[in-house]
Amino acid sequence: MKPLFHPRLVNDPFGDPGLYVDFLFERRALLFDLGDLSPLSARQLLRVTHAFVSHTHMDHFAGFDALLRILLGRDKVLHLFGPPGFIDRVEHKLAAYTWNLVANYESDLAVRATEVSPDGSLESAELRSRTGFRRETLTVPALPPGVLLDDETFQVRAAFLDHQIPCLAFALEEKFHVNVWKSGLEELGLPTGPWLRDLKYSVARGEPDGTRVAVRWSEDGSIRERTVTLGELKEKVLRIVPGQKIAYVTDAGFTPENAHAIVDLAHGADSLFIEAAFTHEEERRAAEKYHLTARQAGGLARQAGAKRLVPFHFSPKHTEEADRLVTEAMEAFEKG
Ligand SMILES: [Zn+2]
Ligand SMILES: [Zn+2]
Repeated sequence: MKPLFHPRLVNDPFGDPGLYVDFLFERRALLFDLGDLSPLSARQLLRVTHAFVSHTHMDHFAGFDALLRILLGRDKVLHLFGPPGFIDRVEHKLAAYTWNLVANYESDLAVRATEVSPDGSLESAELRSRTGFRRETLTVPALPPGVLLDDETFQVRAAFLDHQIPCLAFALEEKFHVNVWKSGLEELGLPTGPWLRDLKYSVARGEPDGTRVAVRWSEDGSIRERTVTLGELKEKVLRIVPGQKIAYVTDAGFTPENAHAIVDLAHGADSLFIEAAFTHEEERRAAEKYHLTARQAGGLARQAGAKRLVPFHFSPKHTEEADRLVTEAMEAFEKG
């Protein structure tokens, strides 16, 4: 199966936390946290449509400027999500600059910021470059509690964690996955390619089997086209299987409430990215700082039944012993 989501940490585990999730065959990407984004190229940043911010400590939000810098001067909508008070933070970030000339640009960049409250209700505002990023209230779609974004093919949910302040953990879930059988494609004389993405959307919309699908590709310098029905493709080429799930958890004390919320959110995740700031020896220090130890992180991943664990956000104190944190997390994950 070719996964839809291609997640990678933006920085090494000692750098600022952040996860970049690229989409297969789609010119889009998601970001979880906006710390130091310098390892990402302009091209990668331009793909970002939605960014989810766990909380606004600087190591999770200082990269907002870098993203804004790249997007400014383009017709684009950037969706941002964060914890209570987030819209104010975004507004204040934007208010730090002078925008007198930007209002004359032909392009209009819209920043749509949404904050979630513990009861699950959402509040949104739009700030556009044309108006010098003046804040305007937006109405928000009614979504089930905990759901921040409901796209055609995937969903993003959030859970509240206690980091002395409210901090969000996120789960990105593909609603279903479409596997493509190469032999079926060969039988129909069709190539692989971006058209398979459009096909997935047709399936997601529940289009009837009689829908005609035109496939166009170039071969030996000439353009070829073939039309098949959705029903034929479903029968010979597609297998619909459960979708991919990725969880991103960072900056939380090891309290029973947090543990419960993390295990629930990350349940059955294909990949769980989770902070492992301190060693087991430093359990008290971790508790004082509202962070997890590597062993706690590994235990939570095990309880959640995650398939893969990626520990990150290591305390810089341990620069010389990254292996120790990884080993502690992996041992708790694999052996309990
Ligand atoms: Zn923090
Ligand atoms: Zn942090």
